[in-house]
Amino acid sequence: MEEFQFCETPKCTNRPLTQSTYCWLHLQEKAAYLKRLIDSKDLKQAYLAKIEIDDLHLNRRDLSCAILNGARMTGAKLSDVNFKQATLCHVILDGAALRHCDFTSAIGDGASFAAATGNGLKLPWSQFKYANFTRADFVSCDLTEAVLTGSLLLRARFEGAKMLGIFLDHADLEEADLNGADLSYAVLGGARLKGANLADTQLKRANLLGADLRGACLLNSSMVKALPIRADLRGADLQGANLQGVLFLEADLRDAVFDGANLRSANFERALIKGASFNGADIRNTNLKNAITD
Ligand SMILES: [Zn+2]
Repeated sequence: MEEFQFCETPKCTNRPLTQSTYCWLHLQEKAAYLKRLIDSKDLKQAYLAKIEIDDLHLNRRDLSCAILNGARMTGAKLSDVNFKQATLCHVILDGAALRHCDFTSAIGDGASFAAATGNGLKLPWSQFKYANFTRADFVSCDLTEAVLTGSLLLRARFEGAKMLGIFLDHADLEEADLNGADLSYAVLGGARLKGANLADTQLKRANLLGADLRGACLLNSSMVKALPIRADLRGADLQGANLQGVLFLEADLRDAVFDGANLRSANFERALIKGASFNGADIRNTNLKNAITD
């Protein structure tokens, strides 16, 4: 068993960095240390809390199970880096270019990926609560069953992303682009999706309790048995959507457009539908009897 050690600076209780006897704060020759670090092949389980590296370029490196809490890697260019089960709390990767990186089961609460880019990133079963993905471009990424509770995804691009069972409760996705994403079974309670692009998305059985979907585009989406109870869908575009069995209980649907939508067995009890349009919608077995029209 590895003996727990402290940084060599008297009275410092920080854990020393991998390949050093000092913590980042007390490390001398930081540039030389970072150069050695980048050249080293094995970084698995490395302890690298709070390191600061500008313009980091890393290619094909194993950082699985590494601890990088509070590390600053703004603008990093990382390709084929393995972050599986890494701890990345409060890591700063703003503006980073992430190619084929794997964050499977990583934990990064409070991390920041603002304006970062990465096509086809793997993030399944990861946890990034209260993280910042503002304007991130993570098209086609895999976020299956990831936990992004309370995160910011303003104007982020997650087109075609796999988000089955994702937790985005109380997340802010205003004007995010989720075109064609799979959000089946997603937890979106209290999420802000104002003006978001959800065209052609899968939202089967998604929990949208109290979500703000004002002006959102849900064109041709599939929301079978979804739960937008008490959600705000004012002015939302639901044309051609499959809304079979959706519970719109007490939802605000004023000026929403349901033209050509499949509303079979949907329930509009106590929903506000003033100004909503239902041209050509399939309303067989739809419960509209207690909907509020004035
Ligand atoms: Zn120290």
